[in-house]
Amino acid sequence: MNVHEHQGKDLLRRYGVAVPEGRACFTVDEAVAAAEALGFPCVVKAQIHAGGRGKGGGVKLVKDVAAARDAATAILGMTLVTHQTGPKGRLVKRLLVEQGCRIARELYLGMVVDRGVGRVTVMASTEGGMEIEEVAARSPEKILREIVDPAVGLAAYQGRRLGFALGLDKEQVGKFVRFLGGLYRCFTECDGSLAEINPLVVTEDGDLVALDAKMGFDDNGLFRHADIRELRDTNEEDARETEAAKHDLSYIALDGNIGCMVNGAGLAMATMDSVQGAGGEPANFLDVGGGANTEKVKAAFKIILSDEAVQAIFINIFGGILRCDVLAEGVVEAAREVGLQVPLVVRMEGTNVEQGKRILADSGLDIIAAGNMREGAERAVAAAGRA
Ligand code: GDP
Ligand code: MN
Repeated sequence: MNVHEHQGKDLLRRYGVAVPEGRACFTVDEAVAAAEALGFPCVVKAQIHAGGRGKGGGVKLVKDVAAARDAATAILGMTLVTHQTGPKGRLVKRLLVEQGCRIARELYLGMVVDRGVGRVTVMASTEGGMEIEEVAARSPEKILREIVDPAVGLAAYQGRRLGFALGLDKEQVGKFVRFLGGLYRCFTECDGSLAEINPLVVTEDGDLVALDAKMGFDDNGLFRHADIRELRDTNEEDARETEAAKHDLSYIALDGNIGCMVNGAGLAMATMDSVQGAGGEPANFLDVGGGANTEKVKAAFKIILSDEAVQAIFINIFGGILRCDVLAEGVVEAAREVGLQVPLVVRMEGTNVEQGKRILADSGLDIIAAGNMREGAERAVAAAGRA
């Protein structure tokens, strides 16, 4: 789960990490009042769960009340498009108004759980303020790394090594070690999966401040962090994924136009492959699970139908614990409730397959039957092409 910049900064502040003073605002008037209270210059920043806001016009430095009002009016309600939002962009519903800071240098500091080494890895670079992906592609040697031994924790010497390599002076290195220590404690105690401070700035007075903060947390650790769970902003999440989570379905939205309904993660992966093999693109990954009942199947089918990008649906079920008749009943009920406007291809095999097929045939739904998985994928892709 990701959180907004202002929420990440509030967390960091609790761990003694230096962040600018600021306030989250939901209206233009709130933003103007915050700017007046903080003083000028200050910065008006769009709060969305995506980076690259500066380039997209979502971060504005303002020098007086009128400019603050203009910036807040322009940014609140705008659809901000960045390299991380995709072409559809994200509607801005909240702002962070923050004290301005005089920047001498912009550095990059990141922390991730590196699955390759199974440890927390700290990344730092002198190339702050720009997209780190670009730095990694063009000049990977400019990204410094320290791997943390979990039994020891982040050692001060690792911070010093990074600090000196970043070209900080002795006094700044001391500040960097404290900054990094606070960030590491926050990251580990909160079950972080990603922390990105880009830029970490050196101010003209030689202080180190987190000017940006992108924080993500391990969903599997959220049960022990009620305070972080409360920060969830479903506006920033795919509505269908949120709905699927409520029904305990494994659903991931994708960019294609073939809606897939499958049981079992392995079969779901194979189904996505066969759709691609047939020249199509899946609209989602969906595993309804082994123990699914009619209600769950119904919910899953409705989620697929609610996606306007879906031009055909491919149901690929191996009836084991989930029986084919149960699946068929869920599909028919959902289709009756929501209306089925796209072609439906069904391939079923296994327990109660004859009953399942009969339920579908008797339903009056227009169903394209498929004898096997490849045929099903091909028919779904062909049907989507005609749609
Ligand atoms: P991002 O584009 O989504 O990563 O948003 P950031 O929070 O990183 O802001 C983008 C850029 O705005 C930063 O790299 C800074 O150059 C600039 N910026 C942000 N806050 C301030 C500030 O207080 N003063 C000045 N001068 N520039 C700022
Ligand atoms: Mn940034």
